[in-house]
Amino acid sequence: MRPFNFSPGPATLPDEVLEQARDELLDWHGSGASIMEVSHRGRDFGACAAEAEADLRALLAIPDHYRVLFLQGGATGQFAAVPLNLAEADEIADYLDTGHWSRRAAHEARRFCRVHIAADAAASNQCAVPEAGSLRLTPGAAYLHYTPNETIGGLEFPYVPESPAPLVADMTSTILSRPIEVARYGLIYASAQKNIGPAGLCVVIVREDLLARPARRAPAVLNYGLMAADDSLLNTPPTLSWYIAGLVLKWLRRQGGLARMAERNRAKAERLYRAIDGSGFYYNPIAPACRSWMNVPFTLPRPGLDEPFVAEAAHAGLLHLKGHRSVGGIRASLYNAMPPEGVDALVAFMDDFAHRHR
Ligand code: PMP
Repeated sequence: MRPFNFSPGPATLPDEVLEQARDELLDWHGSGASIMEVSHRGRDFGACAAEAEADLRALLAIPDHYRVLFLQGGATGQFAAVPLNLAEADEIADYLDTGHWSRRAAHEARRFCRVHIAADAAASNQCAVPEAGSLRLTPGAAYLHYTPNETIGGLEFPYVPESPAPLVADMTSTILSRPIEVARYGLIYASAQKNIGPAGLCVVIVREDLLARPARRAPAVLNYGLMAADDSLLNTPPTLSWYIAGLVLKWLRRQGGLARMAERNRAKAERLYRAIDGSGFYYNPIAPACRSWMNVPFTLPRPGLDEPFVAEAAHAGLLHLKGHRSVGGIRASLYNAMPPEGVDALVAFMDDFAHRHR
């Protein structure tokens, strides 16, 4: 068995998926070549690509009037692509600022349109999202952007914001963790390297009417309309990442789909938060209703304990628990591919560590 890997992303992938990729690496389905060695316009990759989209559509119950794009440039590319495609330079886009990634998104958007921060989480020191009724929305805004899960802060929206403008969500660290109602969104984007597959791919789910804008300022590789017209094959896509994402999506369907994943993810997160809250040693500051299922940051009573915690955990087969460099502390990421046994092992280690270092 491999050690449990709590990396925030690129993150652990299911063993079954890696084993299948290994087995198919030299010869994909008797074709005599691996999938990364053939044309992205050929039959073999075409089959992989179409199946990945069909499985994503089935898992998320994506309505027919939404297009799915498989792009490059990561979520950071989408920080620019969203305003370039959905706003003109003189239009206002509303943003909710709830931490590092939503702030990065707003900062990038300012280069391409006018940005209005419709609410932020400053009053709670980023420990609770703004109340649903407190959003100061701009009449006629091009869109409302938010980050349902802040990967670094471990802060998650317990509700879906409402706006007359199309709702845009950076779901990089929460997509596929539970069912969602796609029809509430104008556009969803997610970098792959947490719950979808390896890095290199960014999935965009966009309502068809939003593709009608000419988006003349958007470079072709970030232009939704052009990419949709070419089934994301306007240029060479990251074929290996797309193929492995397809294997992950099949694995998710074999697990029973997103309702099943939601039960499992909720139980994993609750187990870890209970252990933190009951320890009298570890601390997570986030308001209980806004605690992330995917990223659980916590601190130890003395900063000097971070290093021995991370080192001893690694020795015990619990990898990559160091918190983000900007905030320090510890962070355990519990994406779909982290089995409940990984959380059990982490909790047991945490108990033992706390007893030894009180
Ligand atoms: N948004 C969120 C919520 C993220 O967690 C990350 C990466 N950790 C990003 C955006 C940036 O993704 P990328 O590095 O793929 O551009």
